[in-house]
Amino acid sequence: MKGVTILGATGSIGVSTLDVLARHPDRYRVVALTARGDVERLLQQCLAHHPRYAVMVEEAAARELRAKLKQHGEKTEVLAGARALEEVAALAECDYVMAAIVGAAGLLATLAAVKAGKRVLLANKESLVMTGALFMRAVRDHGAELLPIDSEHNALFQCMPGGYRAGMQPPGVRRLLLTCSGGPFRGWSREQRRAVTPDQACAHPRWKMGRKISVDSATLMNKGLEVNEARWLFDLPAERIEVVVHPQSVVHSLVEYADGSVLAQLGNPDMRTPIACGLAWPERIQAGIEPLDLFSVARLDFEPPDVGAFPCLGLAIEAAKAGGSAPLVLNAANEISVQAFLSGKLRFTAIAEVVDETLQRCALAAVDSIEAVLERDRRARRLATDFAVKLMEQPA
Ligand code: NAD
Ligand code: MG
Repeated sequence: MKGVTILGATGSIGVSTLDVLARHPDRYRVVALTARGDVERLLQQCLAHHPRYAVMVEEAAARELRAKLKQHGEKTEVLAGARALEEVAALAECDYVMAAIVGAAGLLATLAAVKAGKRVLLANKESLVMTGALFMRAVRDHGAELLPIDSEHNALFQCMPGGYRAGMQPPGVRRLLLTCSGGPFRGWSREQRRAVTPDQACAHPRWKMGRKISVDSATLMNKGLEVNEARWLFDLPAERIEVVVHPQSVVHSLVEYADGSVLAQLGNPDMRTPIACGLAWPERIQAGIEPLDLFSVARLDFEPPDVGAFPCLGLAIEAAKAGGSAPLVLNAANEISVQAFLSGKLRFTAIAEVVDETLQRCALAAVDSIEAVLERDRRARRLATDFAVKLMEQPA
């Protein structure tokens, strides 16, 4: 029986994780569930899964959840504040940690799980993009087991040689081919892209996801973050990672070997597949997925990405090649501008402008500690906010 903590239980990945866990009560026990402030959803999850601990980052939400659980006679202990995320990620009774908080907010709790030597199921790609080498060193130093949950990286992991562990440079691999749906605005004109609304950006054609990653998928920043993520998970330079647009989202990524073999992982687009894979690895368990019907898929298309139309992808690939502080500055500026876009203050096409400007203003530096990462992250956020405000003040 494995004890599981879910960081970000109320989100899209958190909900899918609980769906898989509920299918296997003989294998997994829920130890802790966390959320920022969604009391109602965390309450329902606690009533269904009876975790030992629940964490709410917002204090008022924690008080409300505590009172409601008491009314229901539940014994779950409610903790409050961001530090409690790190505590439940490192509990002795927890074997596996699903890292599914969105953005830099997930960094310290994900690292706490790594430092406690857990099996870490990594959905929170931003934490790896921000800290790269530091993160992978912590995985090695603390004997953690890192399993990629991002569907593309999970696919790549499944196509690796037997016994492969994330962080090793895979022997005999020539290239990684990272597939990309192309997002909802593939083929749209510049005028159309300028006028995109938050709701349009969040209506992804293939995947139902949280709002931040939905916008990232629409700008193709998500794929750029994923190039950075793959760079660290598989210890290969960005030059050996190629992005391939594949609108059907059935081939989740491919590994090309030195002998010309190309291995791919296919499946219906549903995050419960990589989640179940990470939980049970190297075994295989039911995840509630319909079999893939190749006759109804019928054809698989592949094309190169349009970096001119989606500059975020190019910026992220350049940041991966530059290394040092570039990926973390890119991530910080992206989080600021996506938030501004989602709250209706910034145009869709301005997201790339803010990221570009912030990268230009933050001199490239080496980052050799988490404190240095956090300091750079704060500075990049200030610069990105200043520039975003300038763009907001300009006439449309
Ligand atoms: P989401 O917005 O649906 O959920 C985010 C979760 O994080 C929620 O539980 C929320 O309460 C919590 N959270 C938000 N801000 C927080 C804060 N400041 N402190 C603590 N907790 C906070 O997001 P999602 O779509 O589930 O994505 C989660 C992560 O997984 C992201 O990093 C995303 O890139 C990655 N991912 C998601 C998918 C997907 O299909 N949704 C696929 C691949 C990777
Ligand atoms: Mg992905």
